[in-house]
Amino acid sequence: MTTAAIVVAAGRGLRAGGGQPKQWRDLAGRRVADWTLDALRSCPGIDCIVLVLSPEDTEAWSDYAGGELILARGGATRDASVRNGLEALVGKGISHVLIHDVARPCIDPGTVARVLAALETHAAAAPALAVTDALWRGANGMVAGTQDRSGLFAAQTPQGFRFGAILKAHRAHPGGAADDVEVARAAGLDVAIVEGHPDNIKITEPGDFARAERILRGNMDIRLGNGYDVHRFGPGDHVTLCGVRVPFERGLQGHSDADVGMHAVTDAIYGALARGDIGQHFPPSDPQWKGAASEIFLRHAVDLAAGMGFRIAHADCTLVCEFPKIGPHAAAMRAEMARIMGLEVDRVSVKATTSEKLGFTGRGEGIAALATATLVTR
Ligand code: MG
Repeated sequence: MTTAAIVVAAGRGLRAGGGQPKQWRDLAGRRVADWTLDALRSCPGIDCIVLVLSPEDTEAWSDYAGGELILARGGATRDASVRNGLEALVGKGISHVLIHDVARPCIDPGTVARVLAALETHAAAAPALAVTDALWRGANGMVAGTQDRSGLFAAQTPQGFRFGAILKAHRAHPGGAADDVEVARAAGLDVAIVEGHPDNIKITEPGDFARAERILRGNMDIRLGNGYDVHRFGPGDHVTLCGVRVPFERGLQGHSDADVGMHAVTDAIYGALARGDIGQHFPPSDPQWKGAASEIFLRHAVDLAAGMGFRIAHADCTLVCEFPKIGPHAAAMRAEMARIMGLEVDRVSVKATTSEKLGFTGRGEGIAALATATLVTR
């Protein structure tokens, strides 16, 4: 199964207020669309994402250009936008597609997993919640009748389909469908209902922003990772610590630049993500990493975190050595690691201690480093 997600973000959505389309409005410090995209990125089983943008949203086009997203041009209606998103995937080896409203930023991995699981055995599947409230018909502010709720569901997205089937259905549909399930059914596809999630709300009214913010903050995932590294002294005239060249009568030995501090921080990030360590991502047996600047490793860990929907909230590194003196260089080390990680300097700590002349660091045989990193969902 090779699965693409199409995020439909071309609507003008002004009903939610704020004077601009709701997908570009701020939600807990980020644009609604960015929450939605990151939520989908963090779901296992989604191989690529198509973002359908209105031609009017020129700022969004330039913001997302050159990234890993496939951009498609929105049409005059939602149907037309989805169809353009599907056409953008033709010839890309996609077997299944999830079509998601950009205004559902609280989409959870469980709902996505249920849709994908149902697609193993059905041509189409979509999440929904059984209606549990009593239903009334109303007129002029008065209850005009009641409606039997049995068999009624409130539809959600992402709605999932076999790619070829939904492409053909959209190409044949005259337009005006409420959602992609309606398009699929018009083409004769059976659509399985899977359990949705009450938090997977669609931002529609102004009050929905506060509700979505409460959900997103409540769902925040906080991860703590630790890292530890040691490099031994050898011949040389400087050591590289936390990205800073420190003149010294010896050097540190290692396959890369032997930046023990940066290695510990990098491993702390991999640790928080439960994604192994530097040695797995950059095997010492691979000659291309010989003498490599450790910045490459740290950047890889930060990018991996971003790809999994995390940002680095803080990193703290302790260097253990009798010499060289770290204090005079600590500010430069913090600044350099903050630059590489794209963080403010006050989120990065570098400090040092001796080991009271005890052990290998005390005997001056090498330098050890410990690090902690905290990652939070973006
Ligand atoms: Mg190392």
